[in-house]
Amino acid sequence: MRLDILYFIGYDIDEELPWHSTISRTRQLFPEEVFESVFTKVFILCVEAGMVSGHTQAIDSAPVKANASMDTLELKVPEEELESHLRRVRHISTMDKEQPFRKSKEDKSNKDQRSITANEQELKAITTRNKRWSKDQDQRPGAGNKGSKYTSNKTHYSPTDPDARISVKPGKARKLNYLSQLSVDTGHHVITDIKAYHADGKDNQQLPDIVKRVKRRLWQQGLVWENCVADTGYSSGENYAFLERQRIKSFIPAHGTFKGGPEGFEYVENKDHYLCPKGKIIPFTKEFNDYRTDTRKKEYRARKHVCMDCPIRSSCLGKSAQEKKFSVTYYRAEYQRNIARVESPQGRYMKAKRQSTVEPVFGTLTQFMGLRKVNTIGLKQANKCMQLAAIAYNIKKYLKFIEKRTKSGAGMHGLNFKLKTVSIPPFVGQFSA
Ligand code: SF4
Repeated sequence: MRLDILYFIGYDIDEELPWHSTISRTRQLFPEEVFESVFTKVFILCVEAGMVSGHTQAIDSAPVKANASMDTLELKVPEEELESHLRRVRHISTMDKEQPFRKSKEDKSNKDQRSITANEQELKAITTRNKRWSKDQDQRPGAGNKGSKYTSNKTHYSPTDPDARISVKPGKARKLNYLSQLSVDTGHHVITDIKAYHADGKDNQQLPDIVKRVKRRLWQQGLVWENCVADTGYSSGENYAFLERQRIKSFIPAHGTFKGGPEGFEYVENKDHYLCPKGKIIPFTKEFNDYRTDTRKKEYRARKHVCMDCPIRSSCLGKSAQEKKFSVTYYRAEYQRNIARVESPQGRYMKAKRQSTVEPVFGTLTQFMGLRKVNTIGLKQANKCMQLAAIAYNIKKYLKFIEKRTKSGAGMHGLNFKLKTVSIPPFVGQFSA
């Protein structure tokens, strides 16, 4: 335990520290709001010390291992009987048709968490995707080993921790995880927000929620947020438009599937139509919601006679199409504005800033603040663990910062006052031990 932290949390040098059970019980019993307000209180200290600039926030996420094993995964059941369901979903491995590899001591799930979430169409997609896998899964070497069954969040749940989700982030092991969403101020790397989410959610779906919380927290301290820096995972037209409405500049590289239109076609902005390589107009026809991606799109379509005598018809239209038809995201302009920012010198600077800001913070949290794994059950408890780790991280940053100021003698007058008036619950300091 560091002496400065002992002093900060009001403990004497020889005073006995609380037992771990005191901390874990307290953590379990106190509501999330208490952790939120302690986090905000420490954040305010950092703001008052001049550590938070507010104008640029870097956002990133990382999976945090849940306190549950893949061995205890069980099949979700649909409304119908389990037996008839098993007969129907033959693509699920033999391991699943018997007992789980290790039976969980207690099933903590409710009926919703045990019920299958995939609809007929999604189940069919799972079957198709894993057709090859399902053919040889029980014959291939090592198929009898644990973990050899095909698992999916749509068809499996963890009875030990029903809130944990199987995470399939590329390059990482397939495990039951939570997702930690982190926002860091680029000034002195103070954490401005942290929250636990289900690990099967996408970063771009969670961005609006994060932005609202961070913006409110900064605004309450009189700080204005101008730039949002994040990786491609947070990219979506909806998010670019949302950030523009919030008057925040996005520096989020567009995802690989974004195309401003077919290759060789030129967009005419004031007329809202495209010009094809042969100079023909492809007009805007309608707006629609793409049911597969649930995104807003615009359709452009030429009439049949336009392409009738075109010399490059077969390469442009393909084998069966009679007319040129394509769809483009509704948020094309927002995409283009964001791409221009990302590719500008400021955008390149922001990319380096993101890498040097949020990634080291995640490294510290996982390596030194116990955030590699949560030892609790449930999303709310996981959130408290993350809040505690972030509180400990910010306190350490704060102490280091004021230590430098103490040595230099700058701003000490107000600082002594703050240290005496702010009380931090004793359990917080334990996490930085
Ligand atoms: S096929 Fe139609 S859209 Fe394609 S280049 Fe020819 S005229 Fe233009």
